[in-house]
Amino acid sequence: MAGILYRSAQVLGRGLRPCWVASHNSHCRLKSSKADVEAAEPKEGAVFAPLDTFTEEEGMLRDVVRKFAQDRIAPLVKAMDAESKMDKSVIQGLFDLGLMGIEVDPKYGGTGASFFSAILVIEELAKVDPSVSVFCDIQNTLITTLFQRLGTEEQKETYLRRLCSDMVGSFCLSEAGSGSDAFSLKTTAQKHKDYYLINGSKMWISSSEQAGVFLVMANADTSAGYRGITCFIVPKETEGFHIGKKEDKLGLRASSTCALTFDNVKVPESNILGNFGHGYKYAIGMLNEGRIGIAAQMVGLAQGCFDHTIPYTKQRIQFGKRIFDFQGMQHQISQVATQLEAARLLTYNAARLKEAGRPFKKEACMAKYFASEVAGTTTSKCLEWMGGVGFTKDYPIEKYYRDAKIGTIYEGTSNIQLSTIAKLIDEQY
Ligand SMILES: Cc1cc2nc3c(=O)[nH]c(=O)nc-3n(C[C@H](O)[C@H](O)[C@H](O)COP(=O)(O)OP(=O)(O)OC[C@H]3O[C@@H](n4cnc5c(N)ncnc54)[C@H](O)[C@@H]3O)c2cc1C
Repeated sequence: MAGILYRSAQVLGRGLRPCWVASHNSHCRLKSSKADVEAAEPKEGAVFAPLDTFTEEEGMLRDVVRKFAQDRIAPLVKAMDAESKMDKSVIQGLFDLGLMGIEVDPKYGGTGASFFSAILVIEELAKVDPSVSVFCDIQNTLITTLFQRLGTEEQKETYLRRLCSDMVGSFCLSEAGSGSDAFSLKTTAQKHKDYYLINGSKMWISSSEQAGVFLVMANADTSAGYRGITCFIVPKETEGFHIGKKEDKLGLRASSTCALTFDNVKVPESNILGNFGHGYKYAIGMLNEGRIGIAAQMVGLAQGCFDHTIPYTKQRIQFGKRIFDFQGMQHQISQVATQLEAARLLTYNAARLKEAGRPFKKEACMAKYFASEVAGTTTSKCLEWMGGVGFTKDYPIEKYYRDAKIGTIYEGTSNIQLSTIAKLIDEQY
């Protein structure tokens, strides 16, 4: 089994051949690199593929991840949730399959696949375990993307290479006093000769138990307000840097979420990622993309829950027939299935827009907002359709129900998504 996965990883990660090589294949209409997806203007005689049309590369990656999730993650989900701990073999498997550097250039050891591929991976993982999904999501949509886009050659050689092979990264923006109002953050970075001293604290930092490197937003020029916010690379072992208490959470329990403190943490000036004072721009930009990842996580989570539930409704007999056969059940099931399909299409469309280099901010907010709502409804309904057993830990439904709630909170709460959508509508009219 491991051999098959590893060989698949080799095919995917290192010897991946782009879709256009096989463009005669009818399942393979869209190309996956940003430059190749051109959907803006209908061309005469052009055939437009449905949104769930995948490139050969995307389809292959999805199948590999699906198998990995079923074979290697599914047996561990319950224990990881109970122990609030991600199993090391899962993390190793993600690295082995090239899933921790999906979009990273193969010259740094990455898989060199598309953003859409990353979205499919996040969705597939969430069907089985949303904690593993967010672990992979943050590494890809926030950490490696920032390093790849903004890193100097030296930073890429030092960190990006390791992030693809054995190092986890954390994205550190939120603080106790600044969540939705993220840029009112209080962590500072004071310049001394050719280094900075970082002081302050962060909260809610995902993957921080496992992380080897932290991207920390700190204000390096408080007189400039949010325009002083700068992104610093802080390796785990830096003196004065402490990883604090792990939160005891309702859901996503296998994903570590810790507070961090910075007590005169000394980092060289060369540890600034990108430009001085541009941290807020990077955070906004990354979170716009990251929201599509969270939407994919919510779609996968809802689908995974639905997939576990429907077979039960077809087996469970009450009043002499399958509970699936009651019209009252069928109408609810159909409504949920329709919402789930709509959430998936919103998510895929936002991802394709991003990949095509077209505006996607509103669509990303809509996808994240809607998919989170749908995940909440789906898991709640599935739990009800299962009756009493759905309420127990003998079935995975209650875990999906607990895990779903986070979708309305992180990477911008539902209210913040709605405010951004409204702002964009206001600008449009
Ligand atoms: C499990 C988990 C993992 C996380 N991972 C990370 C991470 O890796 N990195 C990181 O930096 N952060 C992370 N976060 C932080 C997360 O992004 C914040 O929790 C989120 O942005 C909300 O901030 P808050 O908790 O301070 O809530 P608040 O901002 O205090 O919001 C509380 C309520 O007020 C509402 N509200 C606030 N402002 C407005 C407004 N203007 N209009 C209308 N309603 C408003 C909100 O919608 C919400 O309902 C994580 C959080 C959790 C729970």
